[in-house]
Amino acid sequence: MTKRVLVVEDNELNLKLFCDLLKAHGFMAEPVRDAREALDHARASRPDLIVMDIQMPHVSGLDLIEAIRSEERLRDTPIMAVTAYAGKGDEDRVRTAGADAFVSKPITLTLFMDSVTALIEETEMRLPQ
Ligand code: MN
Repeated sequence: MTKRVLVVEDNELNLKLFCDLLKAHGFMAEPVRDAREALDHARASRPDLIVMDIQMPHVSGLDLIEAIRSEERLRDTPIMAVTAYAGKGDEDRVRTAGADAFVSKPITLTLFMDSVTALIEETEMRLPQ
């Protein structure tokens, strides 16, 4: 079955890049430009993976991760944070908030897709259908 990925990113070019990349690898990608709408989208579509930026207006990726993790039905959805790497402290904060993986910008296509694939496979093993 086609895996569905919710992509939350305020930068239009990155949003298109991530979605195009996912589609080229056989995933369905749902773009969301505003983190304030992301929780509703996640509740409605129950994606297999959420890919998100951290630096966003209105609601930061860190707050969004915490909001997702506090919802019982979304708690097990893997989250991959994609953000400019500014030091180990940043990665720690993102992981502490509840992200399962951290990919730094600018992304390399291989690392991005490897991380997506690994998270989906890990989740399938952890949560048998
Ligand atoms: Mn951003």
